[in-house]
Amino acid sequence: MDENCIFCKIIRGDFNTEFVYENEHLVVFNDINPKAPVHMLVVPRLHVPSLNELDDKELLGELMLGVKEAAKRAGLKSYRTQINTGKEAGQEVFHLHIHVLGK
Ligand code: 5GP
Ligand code: ZN
Repeated sequence: MDENCIFCKIIRGDFNTEFVYENEHLVVFNDINPKAPVHMLVVPRLHVPSLNELDDKELLGELMLGVKEAAKRAGLKSYRTQINTGKEAGQEVFHLHIHVLGK
């Protein structure tokens, strides 16, 4: 838990954000500024600033399974995923997240 992190606060329930899916490793919620008809964020419960700081193979695998589960629950068979890593690549929230975009 990072007190200055917006996603940690969402995970803690500070804003009553609805989770599309959650399990012991991660939560999935809709992006506040969607760039596609369906735009979800798959977010580990653990505060990790970016992909560069995560080497735990089990959690990395759980995140990819979370992508598939979120897509399934949103009724998506076809979708894109994106991970922005670092400011210059467009990362704005420094708590690792995977974008899942579909129609
Ligand atoms: P990044 O550019 O870091 O990969 O993506 C951050 C994403 O988080 C953006 O698409 C932005 O719209 C989303 N976002 C930022 N703040 C919030 C928030 O408070 N709630 C939700 N649901 N999404 C947020
Ligand atoms: Zn965080």
